[in-house]
Amino acid sequence: MTNQGDIGTGRVQPVIIPRPEHAISRGSISPGALKVLYRLKDAGFQSYLVGGGVRDLLLGREPKDFDVGTNATPDEIKALFRNCRLIGRRFRLAHVRFGQDIIEVATFRARHDSDTDAIDDELRAHAENGRILRDNVYGTLDDDVWRRDFTVNALYYDIKDFSVVDYVGGLDDLKGGMLRLIGDPEQRYREDPVRMLRAVRFAAKLGFRIHADSEACLHELGHLLRDIPPARLFEEILKLFLGGNAVGTFELLRHYDLFQYLFPLTEEALGHEEQGFPITFVLRALENTDGRLAEDKPVTPAFLFAALLWEPMRLQAQQLREQGATPIEAAQIAGNRVTAEQVQVSSLPKRFSLPMREIWNLQARFERRRGKAPYRLLEHPRFRAAYDFLLLRAEVGEEDAELAQWWTDFQTLNADERASMVPAAQKKSGRRRRPRRRRSAAPVDG
Ligand code: ATP
Ligand code: MG
Repeated sequence: MTNQGDIGTGRVQPVIIPRPEHAISRGSISPGALKVLYRLKDAGFQSYLVGGGVRDLLLGREPKDFDVGTNATPDEIKALFRNCRLIGRRFRLAHVRFGQDIIEVATFRARHDSDTDAIDDELRAHAENGRILRDNVYGTLDDDVWRRDFTVNALYYDIKDFSVVDYVGGLDDLKGGMLRLIGDPEQRYREDPVRMLRAVRFAAKLGFRIHADSEACLHELGHLLRDIPPARLFEEILKLFLGGNAVGTFELLRHYDLFQYLFPLTEEALGHEEQGFPITFVLRALENTDGRLAEDKPVTPAFLFAALLWEPMRLQAQQLREQGATPIEAAQIAGNRVTAEQVQVSSLPKRFSLPMREIWNLQARFERRRGKAPYRLLEHPRFRAAYDFLLLRAEVGEEDAELAQWWTDFQTLNADERASMVPAAQKKSGRRRRPRRRRSAAPVDG
């Protein structure tokens, strides 16, 4: 590894791998990214593909997105592309859009001592009160390398001659399946604690080991995640659990004691139960998420959060029921409480928390199989998600398999067959339910 004293001094000589000696071909770079790379180069700027795009191409994987690094300033980038938007306040980045394909173009910058940053630091820009002047932020390629997190994320593909530039031993680490932070691990985690989550995410996604030095302080520094703004943690949670490797990621997060800083209530609930089924439920739900992504089926943050927060929600609802609340009241109150606590840690926009709450609330309604109740539930806009959720609960034995099967049949049968499944609403003797307002003739829900 590089001598720490040499970092960012221009004394480190990069290894340059010429085109014939590596596997990146232009055919596997998106047309949008190629346009950006060439236009910058043709305008006389340096122009490199950087980050995860280079890493994934070298591994023969399909990159999620393409990032470009250049010595052009944001204004110079903006002048070159009509379809370009500048984002971020402290470090401005350019987003160049080609339909769905958004290429992130960043001006080289130097690492700064107080660099708490990521590429995506719009969210945190306000916390920095402009202490760093723009002028001393931008830098050269040789500066840019050292602010990156892992060696395998600090490789540059040069569009000028199609070579790969490696200052930090990233290629060897790529071959060795190793995630190694650039520089002093503890300092790099302290600068930006989200790097701990990134370590876990890449380890799970790529099947890489985390280098012993980068791994040693992971167990100890999790608490630093408490300082991360909830909006950024939310974004990171989505990357962790909706990236196709949720199960492996969850296991590593728990292994490194990091999960508790993302879902404290869930961690606590999992700790309480020794029988193993709550954890089985979370794992089953994550496995299901990974499976859906593998089949290109849609996944939603609402369902993900419903699953991850289900155990604390269920336990609280159970307590409320023991205190006399109806199942539906209990679900509502517990849902409120759990949501309110979670948003202190990670934000959860209303467009996700509302459907999440509906998925929970509908669970209690699956029990009602008499009269009109099942027909009404079937029409509920969240029925499908709630039913999928019920199936998971049944699969792990938390809910009766018979109930889940009943709902499966109820959906697939024709009207007559359905009708034969649903007994008329029961007239209860003794403690009668309050009749629904203005529904005098209709049978009361069973
Ligand atoms: P993927 O896109 O597959 O999630 P990635 O490595 O491309 O992985 P991005 O978040 O897209 O990750 O970031 C692009 C690059 O920016 C990274 O490869 C890394 O070089 C740098 N980077 C991103 N976040 C950080 C961070 N928190 N600290 C240091 N460098 C970072
Ligand atoms: Mg990326």
